[in-house]
Amino acid sequence: MSDLAQRIADNLALVRARIAAAAGRSGRSANEITLVAVTKYVAADVAQAVLAAGCSDLGESRPQELWAKADLLGPNSDTPASDLSPIRWHLIGHLQRNKVRRTLPLIHLIQSVDSRRLLATLNEEAALRGQAVPVLLEANISGDATKTGMPPAELEPIMAEAARWPHVAIRGLMGMASGTGGESAAKRDFGRLRTLREQLSRNLPPGVALNELSMGMSNDYELAVESGATIVRVGSALFEGLPI
Ligand SMILES: *Cc1c(COP(=O)(O)O)cnc(C)c1O
Repeated sequence: MSDLAQRIADNLALVRARIAAAAGRSGRSANEITLVAVTKYVAADVAQAVLAAGCSDLGESRPQELWAKADLLGPNSDTPASDLSPIRWHLIGHLQRNKVRRTLPLIHLIQSVDSRRLLATLNEEAALRGQAVPVLLEANISGDATKTGMPPAELEPIMAEAARWPHVAIRGLMGMASGTGGESAAKRDFGRLRTLREQLSRNLPPGVALNELSMGMSNDYELAVESGATIVRVGSALFEGLPI
Protein backbone atom coordinates (compact mmCIF):
# COMPACT_ATOMS: atom_id res chain seq x y z
CA MET A 1 0.00 0.00 0.00
CA SER A 2 1.31 3.48 -0.80
CA ASP A 3 2.01 5.95 2.02
CA LEU A 4 -0.99 7.99 0.90
CA ALA A 5 -3.33 4.99 0.93
CA GLN A 6 -2.01 3.83 4.29
CA ARG A 7 -2.36 7.24 5.90
CA ILE A 8 -5.92 7.64 4.65
CA ALA A 9 -6.87 4.15 5.77
CA ASP A 10 -5.45 4.90 9.25
CA ASN A 11 -7.22 8.27 9.51
CA LEU A 12 -10.48 6.73 8.34
CA ALA A 13 -10.21 3.90 10.86
CA LEU A 14 -9.61 6.40 13.66
CA VAL A 15 -12.60 8.56 12.69
CA ARG A 16 -14.82 5.48 12.40
CA ALA A 17 -13.68 4.25 15.81
CA ARG A 18 -14.48 7.62 17.36
CA ILE A 19 -17.90 7.66 15.72
CA ALA A 20 -18.57 4.17 17.08
CA ALA A 21 -17.43 5.19 20.57
CA ALA A 22 -19.61 8.31 20.53
CA ALA A 23 -22.56 6.25 19.30
CA GLY A 24 -21.95 3.75 22.11
CA ARG A 25 -21.86 6.51 24.72
CA SER A 26 -25.31 7.62 23.63
CA GLY A 27 -26.79 4.15 23.32
CA ARG A 28 -26.80 4.14 19.53
CA SER A 29 -25.34 1.83 16.93
CA ALA A 30 -22.56 3.04 14.63
CA ASN A 31 -24.64 1.70 11.73
CA GLU A 32 -27.08 4.55 12.26
CA ILE A 33 -24.44 7.07 11.27
CA THR A 34 -23.18 7.80 7.77
CA LEU A 35 -19.71 9.24 7.45
CA VAL A 36 -19.43 11.63 4.51
CA ALA A 37 -15.80 12.25 3.60
CA VAL A 38 -15.51 15.88 2.56
CA THR A 39 -13.00 15.91 -0.28
CA LYS A 40 -13.12 19.63 -1.10
CA TYR A 41 -9.51 20.15 0.02
CA VAL A 42 -7.97 17.34 -1.99
CA ALA A 43 -7.43 16.30 -5.58
CA ALA A 44 -9.28 13.45 -7.25
CA ASP A 45 -6.49 10.93 -6.66
CA VAL A 46 -6.75 11.48 -2.90
CA ALA A 47 -10.55 11.22 -3.08
CA GLN A 48 -10.02 7.96 -4.97
CA ALA A 49 -7.89 6.71 -2.08
CA VAL A 50 -10.77 7.48 0.30
CA LEU A 51 -13.10 5.37 -1.84
CA ALA A 52 -10.56 2.59 -2.01
CA ALA A 53 -10.27 2.67 1.79
CA GLY A 54 -13.98 1.86 1.93
CA CYS A 55 -15.73 5.18 2.43
CA SER A 56 -18.27 5.53 -0.39
CA ASP A 57 -19.96 8.77 0.64
CA LEU A 58 -18.07 11.81 -0.67
CA GLY A 59 -19.03 15.43 -0.09
CA GLU A 60 -18.10 18.57 -2.00
CA SER A 61 -19.15 22.14 -1.30
CA ARG A 62 -18.81 23.55 -4.80
CA PRO A 63 -20.90 22.11 -7.62
CA GLN A 64 -18.14 22.64 -10.22
CA GLU A 65 -15.68 20.71 -8.08
CA LEU A 66 -18.21 17.92 -7.63
CA TRP A 67 -18.68 17.74 -11.43
CA ALA A 68 -14.92 17.65 -12.00
CA LYS A 69 -14.37 14.84 -9.51
CA ALA A 70 -17.41 12.90 -10.71
CA ASP A 71 -15.93 13.12 -14.22
CA LEU A 72 -12.81 11.39 -12.99
CA LEU A 73 -14.20 9.04 -10.33
CA GLY A 74 -17.67 8.40 -11.72
CA PRO A 75 -21.16 9.69 -11.00
CA ASN A 76 -23.33 8.54 -8.15
CA SER A 77 -23.53 4.78 -8.34
CA ASP A 78 -25.60 2.76 -5.93
CA THR A 79 -25.27 -0.34 -8.12
CA PRO A 80 -21.79 -0.03 -9.55
CA ALA A 81 -19.98 -2.18 -12.03
CA SER A 82 -18.01 -4.75 -10.09
CA ASP A 83 -14.60 -3.23 -10.79
CA LEU A 84 -15.54 0.21 -9.49
CA SER A 85 -15.97 1.40 -5.93
CA PRO A 86 -19.53 2.57 -5.30
CA ILE A 87 -19.83 6.34 -4.89
CA ARG A 88 -22.52 8.44 -3.29
CA TRP A 89 -22.00 12.13 -3.95
CA HIS A 90 -23.25 14.70 -1.46
CA LEU A 91 -23.40 18.42 -2.13
CA ILE A 92 -22.84 20.32 1.12
CA GLY A 93 -22.42 23.91 -0.14
CA HIS A 94 -24.55 26.48 -1.90
CA LEU A 95 -26.12 25.34 -5.16
CA GLN A 96 -26.76 28.10 -7.69
CA ARG A 97 -29.95 27.49 -9.64
CA ASN A 98 -28.14 27.52 -12.99
CA LYS A 99 -26.07 24.56 -11.78
CA VAL A 100 -28.99 22.32 -10.82
CA ARG A 101 -29.40 20.62 -14.20
CA ARG A 102 -25.84 19.43 -14.41
CA THR A 103 -25.72 18.39 -10.77
CA LEU A 104 -28.86 16.23 -10.56
CA PRO A 105 -27.64 13.22 -12.57
CA LEU A 106 -24.54 12.95 -10.37
CA ILE A 107 -25.96 13.34 -6.92
CA HIS A 108 -27.06 11.11 -4.04
CA LEU A 109 -28.15 13.86 -1.63
CA ILE A 110 -28.19 17.65 -1.80
CA GLN A 111 -27.67 18.61 1.83
CA SER A 112 -27.62 22.37 1.44
CA VAL A 113 -31.04 23.51 0.21
CA ASP A 114 -31.34 27.06 1.43
CA SER A 115 -34.27 28.75 -0.35
CA ARG A 116 -37.74 28.30 -1.84
CA ARG A 117 -36.36 29.41 -5.18
CA LEU A 118 -33.89 26.56 -5.15
CA LEU A 119 -36.66 24.13 -4.13
CA ALA A 120 -38.72 25.32 -7.09
CA THR A 121 -35.84 24.88 -9.54
CA LEU A 122 -34.96 21.46 -8.13
CA ASN A 123 -38.59 20.45 -8.50
CA GLU A 124 -38.75 21.55 -12.15
CA GLU A 125 -35.52 19.85 -13.12
CA ALA A 126 -36.28 16.66 -11.19
CA ALA A 127 -39.69 16.52 -12.88
CA LEU A 128 -37.97 16.67 -16.29
CA ARG A 129 -35.81 13.74 -15.25
CA GLY A 130 -38.83 11.86 -13.94
CA GLN A 131 -37.04 11.25 -10.65
CA ALA A 132 -37.41 12.86 -7.26
CA VAL A 133 -34.27 14.47 -5.85
CA PRO A 134 -33.43 13.72 -2.20
CA VAL A 135 -32.50 16.80 -0.19
CA LEU A 136 -31.89 18.15 3.28
CA LEU A 137 -32.96 21.63 4.29
CA GLU A 138 -30.08 23.65 5.68
CA ALA A 139 -30.82 25.62 8.83
CA ASN A 140 -28.61 28.34 10.28
CA ILE A 141 -28.63 27.01 13.83
CA SER A 142 -25.79 29.10 15.22
CA GLY A 143 -27.43 32.40 14.32
CA ASP A 144 -24.00 33.43 13.05
CA ALA A 145 -24.51 35.74 10.07
CA THR A 146 -21.41 34.37 8.37
CA LYS A 147 -22.89 30.86 8.37
CA THR A 148 -25.12 29.59 5.59
CA GLY A 149 -28.61 28.16 5.79
CA MET A 150 -32.13 29.43 6.39
CA PRO A 151 -33.28 30.95 9.67
CA PRO A 152 -34.86 28.07 11.64
CA ALA A 153 -38.20 29.90 11.77
CA GLU A 154 -38.41 29.66 7.96
CA LEU A 155 -38.56 25.90 7.98
CA GLU A 156 -42.05 25.41 9.34
CA PRO A 157 -43.74 27.48 6.60
CA ILE A 158 -41.59 25.76 3.99
CA MET A 159 -42.59 22.32 5.23
CA ALA A 160 -46.22 23.40 5.14
CA GLU A 161 -45.74 24.18 1.43
CA ALA A 162 -43.92 20.95 0.58
CA ALA A 163 -46.74 19.82 -1.71
CA ARG A 164 -45.62 22.54 -4.15
CA TRP A 165 -42.42 20.57 -4.81
CA PRO A 166 -43.56 16.96 -5.34
CA HIS A 167 -40.30 16.01 -7.11
CA VAL A 168 -38.18 17.09 -4.17
CA ALA A 169 -37.88 14.45 -1.45
CA ILE A 170 -37.15 16.25 1.82
CA ARG A 171 -35.30 13.76 4.02
CA GLY A 172 -34.01 15.83 6.91
CA LEU A 173 -32.05 18.82 8.13
CA MET A 174 -28.47 19.98 7.88
CA GLY A 175 -26.68 22.45 10.10
CA MET A 176 -23.31 23.72 11.22
CA ALA A 177 -22.32 24.61 14.77
CA SER A 178 -20.95 28.01 15.61
CA GLY A 179 -17.23 28.18 14.87
CA THR A 180 -16.66 30.01 18.15
CA GLY A 181 -17.78 29.22 21.67
CA GLY A 182 -16.26 25.78 21.81
CA GLU A 183 -17.97 22.64 22.93
CA SER A 184 -20.83 24.22 24.83
CA ALA A 185 -21.87 26.34 21.84
CA ALA A 186 -21.65 23.34 19.52
CA LYS A 187 -23.78 21.31 21.92
CA ARG A 188 -26.36 24.08 22.05
CA ASP A 189 -26.45 24.38 18.24
CA PHE A 190 -26.76 20.62 17.65
CA GLY A 191 -29.52 20.53 20.27
CA ARG A 192 -31.32 23.26 18.33
CA LEU A 193 -31.27 21.26 15.10
CA ARG A 194 -32.53 18.19 16.86
CA THR A 195 -35.32 20.13 18.58
CA LEU A 196 -36.23 21.72 15.27
CA ARG A 197 -36.60 18.29 13.73
CA GLU A 198 -38.81 17.17 16.62
CA GLN A 199 -41.02 20.24 16.26
CA LEU A 200 -41.36 19.85 12.50
CA SER A 201 -41.96 16.11 12.79
CA ARG A 202 -45.17 16.67 14.75
CA ASN A 203 -46.85 17.98 11.66
CA LEU A 204 -45.26 16.43 8.60
CA PRO A 205 -46.94 16.73 5.22
CA PRO A 206 -47.52 13.42 3.40
CA GLY A 207 -44.41 12.06 1.72
CA VAL A 208 -41.98 14.04 3.86
CA ALA A 209 -39.71 12.30 6.36
CA LEU A 210 -37.11 14.02 8.48
CA ASN A 211 -35.01 10.97 9.25
CA GLU A 212 -31.65 12.56 8.59
CA LEU A 213 -29.81 15.02 10.79
CA SER A 214 -26.55 16.07 9.14
CA MET A 215 -24.33 17.81 11.66
CA GLY A 216 -20.76 17.59 12.89
CA MET A 217 -17.42 18.27 11.20
CA SER A 218 -13.82 17.42 12.02
CA ASN A 219 -13.69 19.20 15.34
CA ASP A 220 -17.16 18.37 16.64
CA TYR A 221 -18.41 15.16 14.98
CA GLU A 222 -18.30 13.11 18.19
CA LEU A 223 -20.44 15.67 19.96
CA ALA A 224 -22.78 15.69 16.97
CA VAL A 225 -23.17 11.91 17.15
CA GLU A 226 -23.95 12.19 20.86
CA SER A 227 -26.53 14.84 19.95
CA GLY A 228 -28.29 12.57 17.44
CA ALA A 229 -26.53 13.13 14.09
CA THR A 230 -27.27 10.50 11.43
CA ILE A 231 -24.75 12.02 9.00
CA VAL A 232 -21.40 13.58 9.89
CA ARG A 233 -19.32 15.51 7.33
CA VAL A 234 -15.64 15.11 8.01
CA GLY A 235 -12.86 16.63 5.91
CA SER A 236 -9.59 17.71 7.49
CA ALA A 237 -9.45 14.90 10.07
CA LEU A 238 -9.25 12.39 7.20
CA PHE A 239 -6.33 14.15 5.56
CA GLU A 240 -4.14 14.79 8.59
CA GLY A 241 -0.51 14.06 7.91
CA LEU A 242 -0.86 14.41 4.17
CA PRO A 243 1.03 17.08 2.23
CA ILE A 244 -2.02 18.84 0.81
C1 LIG B 1 -15.75 21.89 4.65
C2 LIG B 1 -17.02 21.44 5.25
C3 LIG B 1 -17.06 20.35 6.12
C4 LIG B 1 -15.81 19.60 6.57
O1 LIG B 1 -15.04 20.42 7.38
P1 LIG B 1 -13.81 19.87 8.25
O2 LIG B 1 -13.76 20.77 9.40
O3 LIG B 1 -12.63 19.94 7.37
O4 LIG B 1 -14.15 18.48 8.65
C5 LIG B 1 -18.29 19.96 6.61
N1 LIG B 1 -19.44 20.59 6.25
C6 LIG B 1 -19.45 21.64 5.44
C7 LIG B 1 -20.74 22.29 5.10
C8 LIG B 1 -18.25 22.12 4.90
O5 LIG B 1 -18.27 23.17 4.08
